[in-house]
Amino acid sequence: MSFMIEDRVAVVTGGSSGIGLETVRLLLAHGARVALCGRNPERLDAARAALVQEFPAAELLAETCDVLDEASCAAFADAVRDRFGGADMLIANAGQGYVAHFDDTPREAWLSEANLKLFGVINPLSAFRDQLAASEIGSLTCVNSLLALQPEPHMIATSAARAALLNMTHSLSHELIGDGIRVNSILLGMVESGQWRRRFEQRDDPSQTWEEWIGAIAAKRGIPMGRLGRPQEPARALVFLASPMASFTTGAALDVSGGFNRHL
Ligand code: NDP
Repeated sequence: MSFMIEDRVAVVTGGSSGIGLETVRLLLAHGARVALCGRNPERLDAARAALVQEFPAAELLAETCDVLDEASCAAFADAVRDRFGGADMLIANAGQGYVAHFDDTPREAWLSEANLKLFGVINPLSAFRDQLAASEIGSLTCVNSLLALQPEPHMIATSAARAALLNMTHSLSHELIGDGIRVNSILLGMVESGQWRRRFEQRDDPSQTWEEWIGAIAAKRGIPMGRLGRPQEPARALVFLASPMASFTTGAALDVSGGFNRHL
């Protein structure tokens, strides 16, 4: 299947690990030119080295950029324009979650979660908006979470911030279509990736293997598909929504949770 993205330019924030990195792989495999960013230069270099080995002819730009820093996003957008002439697809993936119940959530965490979820999209969008508007296939595709519609008390601040992001992206889809930019999201359940690897390292029972640990989480949480998602799975949903394959879709939120959703 072709995503109709050959030679198109895709920007992936948080492309140096997990879901973002798999999204970059898929975009490159389908002939897109890709710019990715992350904050940690070593992680970024490791990702770039792996991608260049896998896709020797890849047109790839890997830049350090903190999506919470406006100037950093502007510099990233300039670098993309210099290298590729502009961007067609912005995939806003960078981020992480905050695990804590209400009583354990300090004021700063509420503020930083709201900041990350909203400005993690607003800053890159502001930096790339002109480029996306100049493209005839412009799109913004956001990684969001099922928490936006199905809050979890043990991630109360993240759930609230995710709901705010879903609300904002819906308004944005109406606002930006005037510039020809489609805006869509994916709603993730639990997906195996860096965040989960780091939580696994801190597991209570160190004798548990990764498979046992993951399987136990899926069973305990009642995920109908009996497992966590693999990063390649949300990557496919993201590339679909970002690409002209979804040319008549805007304002959508696609569930990628293995059936974990409980709403209609
Ligand atoms: P990873 O930790 O594997 O990857 C996160 C990526 O984002 C890294 O490349 C990281 O690089 C980058 N990043 C984080 N903060 C910033 C920042 N401020 N500026 C630029 N880059 C940043 O996590 P996942 O792949 O699991 O997560 C991807 C997205 O999916 C996140 O937004 C996450 O919240 C969301 N999500 C994931 C779920 C899951 O179960 N995995 C569930 C629900 C949502 P660096 O640290 O070097 O900046």
